This record gives sequence, structure tokens and C-alpha cells, in this order.
Amino acid sequence: MNFNVDLGSFKFCWSVELTCFDHLLKVFSIKMEYEGRYRMAAAKYDCLLFDLDDTLYPYSSGIAAACGQNIKDYMVEKLGIERSKIEDLGNLLYKNYGTTMAGLRAIGYDFDYDDYHSFVHGRLPYENLKPDPVLRSLLLSLPLRKIIFTNADKVHAVKVLSRLGLEDCFEGIICFETLNPTHKNNVSDDEDDIAFVESAASTTTSANGPEIFDIIGHFAQPNPSLVALPKTPIVCKPSELAIEKALKIASINPQRTLFFEDSVRNIQAGKRVGLDTVLIGKSQRVKGADYAFESIHNIKEAIPELWESDMKSEVGYPGQVAVETSVTA
Ligand SMILES: [Mg+2]
Repeated sequence: MNFNVDLGSFKFCWSVELTCFDHLLKVFSIKMEYEGRYRMAAAKYDCLLFDLDDTLYPYSSGIAAACGQNIKDYMVEKLGIERSKIEDLGNLLYKNYGTTMAGLRAIGYDFDYDDYHSFVHGRLPYENLKPDPVLRSLLLSLPLRKIIFTNADKVHAVKVLSRLGLEDCFEGIICFETLNPTHKNNVSDDEDDIAFVESAASTTTSANGPEIFDIIGHFAQPNPSLVALPKTPIVCKPSELAIEKALKIASINPQRTLFFEDSVRNIQAGKRVGLDTVLIGKSQRVKGADYAFESIHNIKEAIPELWESDMKSEVGYPGQVAVETSVTA
């Protein structure tokens, strides 16, 4: 006799004799195994964690370049650093501390964080960011938690999301203020964070008096790795502590979360704390990246299973203002 077994999108038609009962059992066990795997894949994630800048909009917007220039200007105009040193100093601080701001604090510069953020972000060409209805539609149709995780301050994050027309697409924003809640130039309670380790590198004195660790001189030494760098009181990506803190604040299980980032080192830090990762802006995967695609717009064609969650009818945040959520600073 003939009978059909429907395996979702697959259809098997077997011709058997009634006496071949073992074949029947085999068919049904295949069907059960297929459905089990399908459910596991669909339910693999329950949260999507998104970096903001150069992840939800392209690097070509010019925002990153303008931000970099503003940081250099801040270092010269507000901190009195020689312009000839800015390039090397900025590179070393960014490389060793995650953000230039975190590095400036580590080596001894004291400044108001809100003043820094308003100077660096206040003059950005936000007009280059246009509403992105395609991304908005993709995000709103995703049946999973969606959270922003950025090193930038809240004002910048809200402005960018608003410009992109994505302000109601996320459950919340984890930003600078979230990870650095007592940031009014207070040094950390943790002595390790503020202890300057003895170094052969010389220190200089800024116009305001505090000793400045000479990080350029430090790396000009024959064996700079033998001497520890001063620590920063600022918590930011790519430190694993920052990522773990963010996960805890938003009650995120890293084993069930997909992390979208344009920064390779942030991707690798995310992988170390257990997140699955998507590198945005590159088509080639790197170590630590589970996926890589050029644009966040590729998300549905690259990972269609994200839309196949059982949670489809339970979530979604249209109409909710991001800054009013519990995980927002
Ligand atoms: Mg980024």
C-alpha cells in the first residue's frame, strides 16, 4: 500500500507492505527527530544584543570619522595635549583601554564625562543618519528580546535611534551611564582601579596639576609588557567585566543570546563570555564570530531561523520609548 508522511516542508512517499512494520516505525522516528531538531534551532536564542554605532547604520555615514576628529579636538582644546602627540596617544589609548575616554582617565586626565560626551557627540553630523524603515520592519518582526549595548552616552544613543526611526524597536539601552552609574569624576572604590603601577616610563604634569602617565614613552621602551599599565575606572567594551555587567543588568543569558557588533575585539570579548556573535560590516568571519555579514539588513537572509521562535506572539515593543525601560541608564 502507499502512504505519505509529511515532515514539515519535506514529503516522503513510501511504498511498503503491511507486513513491513519496522519501516513504519523508522519513518515516524525520522519525523520525530526532524521536528525535535527544528524546535531546538528555532528556540536557540531568546535575546538579541545590538551594538549601536557602525552596526545599526553603516560606517560610511561619516559619524565615526567626525567622532574621531572631535575626540582629537577635545584632547587638544580641553586637556591641553600637544597636537603632534594626538595621533599616537589616541591610538594607544583606544587600543589598550577600549575607548580613548577610558584611556585618558587611566593615564591621569581628570574631566567631566558629560562635558566630554557633549563635546565629542554634540557636533556630529546626525543629519547624515536617515530613517531606516527596512531595518525597522525587520526588528519589529523579530519575535525576540532586543537590547542596545553601546559604549556611548544615553543622549547620543537616543539621538541615533531617533534619527534612524528605531526608537521604539528595543526593550532598552545599556550605555555609558548604565555601566558607570557613579561617574561624576569619582574614582572607583576599587583600589585596583586607581593604583598607578610603578613604571620606568616618565610622568609629566598637565596644566591642572595631576601626574600624567607617559603611555607613549611606556611603549617606546624595549619591553613594555614587563610593566603594567595603569587601570581605568571606566567600564566599557571590550572588557569582559563590562559585558558581564551588561548581561547581568538586563537579565540576559549569554548562552541564549546573539550579539551584533562591528568591532572585532568586542566580538571576541563577547565570545569569551559565552555569547554567540555576528560581525557586522565584514563578509569574512574572524575568530570569535559565528556569523559575518556586510549589513544588518542581511539579518533575515543570513539567519532566518530567528523568525521561527515559539515566542512570536508574546513579545514586541512598538510604541515603547527606549529610555523609559528598566535597563536604560
Ligand atoms: Mg560600533
